[in-house]
Amino acid sequence: MTQAFQKLAAIRGMNDVLPEAGHRWEAFEALIRDWLHSYGYRNMRPPVLEHTRLFTRGIGEVTDIVEKEMYTFTDALNGDSLTMRPEFTAGMVRATIEHNLLYERPQRVYAMGPVFRHERPQRGRYRQFHQIDVEALGFAGPDVDAEMIVMLARLWRRLGLADIRLELNSLGQPDERAAHRAALIAHLERHRDILDEDGQRRLYSNPLRVLDTKNPAMQEMADSAPRLSDFLGEASRAHLQGVCERLDDAGIAYRMNPRLVRGLDYYNLTVFEWVTDRLGAQGTVCGGGRYDGLIELLGGKPAPAVGFAIGMERLLDLWGQSQAPEPVPECQVYIVHQGEAAQRRAARVAETLRDAGLSVIVHAGSAGFKSQFKRADASGARAAVILGGDELASGSAGVKWLRGDAQQGEAQQQVPLDQLAEVLQSKV
Ligand code: ATP
Ligand code: MG
Repeated sequence: MTQAFQKLAAIRGMNDVLPEAGHRWEAFEALIRDWLHSYGYRNMRPPVLEHTRLFTRGIGEVTDIVEKEMYTFTDALNGDSLTMRPEFTAGMVRATIEHNLLYERPQRVYAMGPVFRHERPQRGRYRQFHQIDVEALGFAGPDVDAEMIVMLARLWRRLGLADIRLELNSLGQPDERAAHRAALIAHLERHRDILDEDGQRRLYSNPLRVLDTKNPAMQEMADSAPRLSDFLGEASRAHLQGVCERLDDAGIAYRMNPRLVRGLDYYNLTVFEWVTDRLGAQGTVCGGGRYDGLIELLGGKPAPAVGFAIGMERLLDLWGQSQAPEPVPECQVYIVHQGEAAQRRAARVAETLRDAGLSVIVHAGSAGFKSQFKRADASGARAAVILGGDELASGSAGVKWLRGDAQQGEAQQQVPLDQLAEVLQSKV
């Protein structure tokens, strides 16, 4: 016996965006683009798939992402190891180098789209999620770091978000980190007996990350560990001070968090996160920082850079808490018709209305007026346009206002076809 066809469902942790939510996504994306353009950022669209080695190199072998979260597979056609991007920065930098974008001047660029990580799905944590990725490539100074943070504060204001706070840290430069790292390893070795499995494993490979533990048994050890801030040289301290002063200028509050190390290997100097308590356990909405070594690491001419990524699902969730979603009409005008000649005419009339900038649905197929009007109503349209035999003969259309506020005494009127667009535009 053949088995019943197994019901098809989406992959766990990969969500469908259905039409109602789809409209919110579109409105959100439009607002985001507008905001990015207001700071001179231009759009880039790197591919979803890249060679695996880009990420192992660019993100770092001993990071959560590379160790356990990447969707990596062998291309059956040629044996290449490929990975679905788990973040944008590596691909953005690869593209920048490959196309020599920094040859003439620094670049402010952004990308927006899905990224993929094999994590345990829960609220705010999915296997396909979306990021807004923003990169300022070729800029060295603290002015750009601060500008990015100020620009994020503007976005939160624009979205009407409160209760979102800024955490800041400096990771210094590689040599400062090396000196700190040696001191840190010595500290961890002294507390070896209380390190959990992850801690043991990362003791030598990524000791900084060991401090990022959520294990309560390790908190005291983490609190008493040597601090990187004590190992920062003058230039690093000046950079941090430069950022802080500019945040003060802009009236942006922040908390210095020496534990903030970020999950990726490539950061130096400024790192920051925006965090909220309104999203349960997954409270980080945006993370970013400076990565002056990455362009060279990936084969480019050395150039400084700074960037951040926003988790779109988390930000949308937060936005939804501050702003009730409005029901969105499918169209402004819904055309009902009777008879084949009228239906064909309706299609042409609809085109002229769209020429005038209106959004129009023509009732598909044929049905009685009553059921067509039901559909018109359900569509959320402000007006129904009626085309029947009488209308065709007289070269006019009936217009019925479907929403109370649009009509002034008169629920239905006859309008000559050549004035139809104008009459509709004045009221929808
Ligand atoms: P987390 O600590 O929550 O795992 P992360 O440090 O791995 O975050 P980044 O690599 O900095 O996250 O990614 C930038 C942003 O993308 C995060 O601040 C978060 O808003 C969002 N994000 C990260 N992982 C996920 C996920 N699995 N699902 C939804 N959003 C995510
Ligand atoms: Mg993570």
